Amino acid sequence: MSPAARAGEAGPDHWTHEWAGGFGRARELLAWLGLEPAAVGLSEAAADRFAFRVTRSFARRMRRGDPADPLLRQVLPATDELLPAPGFSQDPVGDLGSRRAPGLLHKYHGRALLVTTASCAIHCRYCFRREFPYESNRLEPRDQAATLAAIAADPSLQEIILSGGDPLALDDHRLEALFAELSRIPQLRRLRMHTRLPVVLPARIGDHLLRLLDDCPLPVTVVIHANHAQELDAEVESALGRLRMACAALLNQSVLLRGVNDSVESLAELSERLFACGVLPYYLHQLDRVSGAAHFEVSDDEAIALARALGARLPGYLVPRLVREIAGEPAKTPLALT
Ligand SMILES: *Cc1c(COP(=O)(O)O)cnc(C)c1O
Ligand code: SF4
Repeated sequence: MSPAARAGEAGPDHWTHEWAGGFGRARELLAWLGLEPAAVGLSEAAADRFAFRVTRSFARRMRRGDPADPLLRQVLPATDELLPAPGFSQDPVGDLGSRRAPGLLHKYHGRALLVTTASCAIHCRYCFRREFPYESNRLEPRDQAATLAAIAADPSLQEIILSGGDPLALDDHRLEALFAELSRIPQLRRLRMHTRLPVVLPARIGDHLLRLLDDCPLPVTVVIHANHAQELDAEVESALGRLRMACAALLNQSVLLRGVNDSVESLAELSERLFACGVLPYYLHQLDRVSGAAHFEVSDDEAIALARALGARLPGYLVPRLVREIAGEPAKTPLALT
């Protein structure tokens, strides 16, 4: 039996223990991987600005003794984060200007995003919400009725995206209540969830959650987040297989990251591996210019060349759309027509 199938049977709270048992200090992870902090460029000051966190499940997919491991690079608080970076800011995509109600961001026609929680099981150093003031901008239970009323009052909305943080950090009861309340809003046709948990904590994909998705009156699209094929091991594949049966569509978004996936081989391998796991690539995001993430940036020229090379190599349905989010634009802006 696969680990994910066992996790599904271990009871709905199994994943919360696994979450709590993650690495909370970078030094612990490095010792476990057999790496010297100085050799990988660890910065405790960077971890003070944005806390370090990673699940054991994700850490098990890192290569021991490899300072350039693409999974390690995504979570390592690095000295580079503290270098001055002109043009990098705290709210690079104008999230705060699009706030319509507590926890509700509305930028694009027909769809709006709910910041359901600040919690994530892993802290990605390039995260565009790493500086996001969640305390005053997430959906608190006490505000839920007002926010749902604001959604109901906007007849143009057809789709609500549960985001965060990670919406699967909410427990199943809270999710069930949200699904039920959103499904009662007559103009909504679709729900969506943007989540990294199926990849970083596959034990979260338990039987109860799968039933919730399956039973939701509105079709639920799940958009996962993986940046490298090495993230998708057998345990994740098994969880994604189960998830795919319970949702309307299963898609992936990635961020183009220097030192992680900035080669055509790496991107092609990711698309192939996603397909083998039942997931189609959706977006490849150009890095949002958030403070602390400049060392991950790939130039637009290089990104476009990579996207073209990928398009020349794979069938169209395995080529993600290379996009940048520009504050004030009516949609994500495509950078290359691949
Ligand atoms: C990215 C984003 C969406 C989703 O855009 P799609 O192109 O539909 O995937 C929706 N709302 C906000 C605020 C976003 O940032
Ligand atoms: S899981 Fe997503 S929201 Fe959470 S830190 Fe990573 S990129 Fe940011």
